[in-house]
Parts: sequence; C-alpha cells; structure tokens
Amino acid sequence: METRIIDGRKVAEQIKAEVTEELQELSKKNLVPGLAAVLVGDDPGSQLYVRMKARTSKELGMHSEAIELPGETTTEELLQVIDRLNQADEIDAILVQLPLPDHIDEDQILLAVRPDKDVDGFHPLNVRNLVTGKVGLAPCTPLGIMYLLKSEGIELKGLEAVVVGRSNIVGKPMAFLLLHQHATVTLCHSRTRDLPAVCRRADILVAAVGQPALITRDYLKEGVVVIDVGINRVESVEEGVRLFGKNSKRIGRIEERGYTLVGDVHPRDPLGVAKAVTPVPFGVGPLTIAHLMKSTVMACRLRKR
Ligand code: NAP
Repeated sequence: METRIIDGRKVAEQIKAEVTEELQELSKKNLVPGLAAVLVGDDPGSQLYVRMKARTSKELGMHSEAIELPGETTTEELLQVIDRLNQADEIDAILVQLPLPDHIDEDQILLAVRPDKDVDGFHPLNVRNLVTGKVGLAPCTPLGIMYLLKSEGIELKGLEAVVVGRSNIVGKPMAFLLLHQHATVTLCHSRTRDLPAVCRRADILVAAVGQPALITRDYLKEGVVVIDVGINRVESVEEGVRLFGKNSKRIGRIEERGYTLVGDVHPRDPLGVAKAVTPVPFGVGPLTIAHLMKSTVMACRLRKR
C-alpha cells in the first residue's frame, strides 16, 4: 500500500486562509479579534511557542499581546493579570501557557479565565460543552486534527478510532471530538493491557504519548490513518540511525544541531502499511497554532455577535 504523508503545513495554510476571510468579514463590523498569550518563567521552548502564537496572530492582522512574566510571579499577581485581560474589550482569547511553575495554583488560574475567552477550553463550562457536544471553545491541537481529518475527506462515522494518551489537553478532548463524529472510540494510557492489539483495531490511530517512536509496525492495521501528535527530541546519532536509517538527512541534523525531532510513531514503520500518516515535524504541529487563530476568531464572534 502506498502511504500518503499528510503535509500539516498545507492544511495550516488552508486554516489561515479561512481566518483571513473571516477577519475581513469582521472588519466590516469594526471587529478585530484579540489574543493574549501569557507565560510565566523563561523556559526557552515555552517562550518560542508564546512568541510564535503572538507573531502569527499579528501577521494575520489580529490584536495580539504576548505577556511574559518572571518565574517568581505569584498566583495573586497572575490572577491580577488575568483579571485585566478578562475585562479588556480588545482581548477575545486568553491563553495561559502550561505548565505553570509549581508554586502557582494552576487550577485557580485556569478557573479565573472568563469561559468565553478561554481559548484552550479548560474552564468547566467549556469542558461541559466539549463532553456534551455543544459548540464552544476546546483545545486547539485536537480541533486542528479534526479539521485535518475532514480536509482529508475521512468520513468518521462507524470507524474504530484509538487514541493513545489521556491528557486533558490532547487525548481526552480528542476522544470526545471523534465520538461526536460517530467514531467508536477507545482511549488508551500507560496501564492499557496489550496496547499493540488494541491499536491494531484502529482505522484512525492518534498517538499523543510523549514516548519517542513507541508506535511500531506491530501496532498498525493495514490501511490505518495515523496521526502523530508527539514531539520528542532524538539527541544521539546511534538512536537517530536506528530510527531514521544511516543515510537519512536527520543524522546530519543531529550532528549539526545536537538533535532532531521524532514523534510517538516510528518514522518508517507506517510506510507501506498505513493509508496516511502525519510526519514529525510538519504534521500536527502547524495545525495547533493555525487552529488557535481560528478559535480566537470564534471567541470574538461568540462574544460580540
Ligand atoms: P502528557 O500529559 O504527558 O500525557 C501523556 C499520556 O500518554 C498519558 O495519558 C500517559 O498515560 C500516556 N502514556 C505515557 N506512556 C505511555 C505508554 N508507554 N503507553 C501508553 N500510554 C502512555 O502528554 P500530552 O500533553 O498529551 O502530550 C503528548 C505528546 O504530544 C508530547 O510529546 C507533546 O510534546 C506532544 N504535543 C504536541 C502538540 C502539537 O501541537 N503537535 C500539542 C500538545 C502536545 P497515563 O495517563 O496513564 O500516565
């Protein structure tokens, strides 16, 4: 079987083109959606994410704020920032970059974000909407994946979907979104018995685990569509050769930069077995930010309609 490699960048461009059209429409009503991304601490990876989110929203013509606070910011200080953003009319979407430092009460912060500006969908009201299948704000990675499956023309009704990983930000919302499209969903985790056998049932397999190349040939049914959410670093050349083959350009990348990225799915095993697979990088990654823009527009529409 020929395996299609799904280019997430193309799908992300499609999402952004839709956002641009929606922004033009909103501008006729003098509405400019606004996104605020809040970061506490100086983790370089999180800084990069927050700045990319702010930059993308600005490039598309939205109002954008990247708020970077020192690592010693207290829960009370962060609550004051959230309160200001809750009240700011130019802000439609508030995103608090996780994880927060240990001394901050994460639950208290996430509960403080106004539900109609809670673009990550963590507030109980939004979780309720997600579980009951109502329109509302939900985590952007699973929303981006649903958009991708639709744009691939995959009719989910009746399909077996297996999601590996049960985090609140990816696995659980993914399972509910697939369920609402009438897939038969199995949600797996670290205590699942015989994971390869459960995965082999899947017509759609979503891996959101954080374990490099966990999903190998043994987990895949012929014709499965594989969505790889994982982002893991491979730093050793030996490991790179094992995963990508000794002639892969990735080996040079490890030697030059010190690492390359691999997903939760083995990079070569699905080839010839799966119907389609998302690569890492450039698969699911670009969808998350693109869908954040779409969700920001949606938050603006829901709040200001
Ligand atoms: P997480 O909160 O660490 O959750 C990982 C989940 O995987 C947990 O439910 C855990 O089970 C399960 N798990 C761990 N080891 C397992 C194993 N050996 N077999 C079966 N299940 C196992 O991770 P996350 O936030 O969902 O992220 C998952 C991955 O996606 C990470 O690599 C992350 O970087 C990536 N990610 C990518 C994007 C993107 O935009 N592309 C967005 C978000 C996350 P238990 O619950 O039993 O512990």
